[in-house]
Amino acid sequence: MNPKERFIAAMRGQEPDFVPADPCLDSIVPARAAGVRVDQFYLDPQVCAQALLATHEMFGFDGIQLGCGSGQYPELFGGRCVYPEDSYPIREEPVFTTKEELDRAQAPDPHQVPVFRSMIEATRLLSERIGDRVAIGARTPGTFNVVRALIGVDALLRGLATDPGLVHRAAELACECLIAAGKAYLEAGAIYVHYPDAVSSPAFLSPRQYREFAMPYHARFFTAMKEAGALTVYHPCGGEYPILCEIREVPGVDAYHFSELVDVGVARQIYGPEAVLWGNVDPHVTMLMGSPEDVEQQVAAIIGKAGRMGNLVMCLGCSTPGNTPLENLKALAQACREHGRYPLVRVTG
Ligand SMILES: [Zn+2]
Repeated sequence: MNPKERFIAAMRGQEPDFVPADPCLDSIVPARAAGVRVDQFYLDPQVCAQALLATHEMFGFDGIQLGCGSGQYPELFGGRCVYPEDSYPIREEPVFTTKEELDRAQAPDPHQVPVFRSMIEATRLLSERIGDRVAIGARTPGTFNVVRALIGVDALLRGLATDPGLVHRAAELACECLIAAGKAYLEAGAIYVHYPDAVSSPAFLSPRQYREFAMPYHARFFTAMKEAGALTVYHPCGGEYPILCEIREVPGVDAYHFSELVDVGVARQIYGPEAVLWGNVDPHVTMLMGSPEDVEQQVAAIIGKAGRMGNLVMCLGCSTPGNTPLENLKALAQACREHGRYPLVRVTG
């Protein structure tokens, strides 16, 4: 199997030759791997595609993701981001302060906004080069992550308590923007979407608020992406135990990617053998501070707990720190080949 076949098999519940890996790398590790600046990664599609090709050659991961982060969504409405040479883009002020402004706003065509155009073009370039053998994915950063970027965290938290109409309208607009961006990446050659939404996790919302405010928009997003032909991955983020049952009810989700705060063996028992789970190696204790042997051990443990019947893709829990040692990322890919080959051989006494 090539990486794309392996990735698709795991995502569709068929048995791959071994557990595929996609560590959801964003801009910083690929920029380091290729020796380019992080601002160029976002603003020059040739540089972005080149950096991701170099990353693929270095690690051989089965899935490669790219796309704008939540902090860049205000640029769809004339907001500004600062692009440091060596770190993530930083958004300036929120672009909306009242519900009236939100009511007047319409989700624009992402091709009309330079940084989105750049990421769509980079997706097309990468897809032309390696899309026949590697799974290219779109980063679509979650409705409430985008709500926070559009109206600010103060307005969001106040709105949840006193002005639910404002929150719903902001979520509706954010969701429309994400659907438009997702479709543009898919048309450019992406075959899956990865949707992480920290701001609707239990770290921000109660389970009741999650049901009332977040679930309808998650459902809308995933349903639209399935209609557009994508494979879909939901990263609910932020200590998901209180909403595990609600998450399972969101329609259109092909795979669940929990944070490292969830024991993926427990998730496997609750969700059953058919659910496709993404493994969640600890990004800090193991990937950032551990050794390649620590990485290998944790990958093997996750496969043992959640990958015996297949239906597993190896990843980190929450996002990959930009200064993760490159040898630990190589160890992640290698451990999947060594410990995740099907049929798994169980060594007993
Ligand atoms: Zn997370």
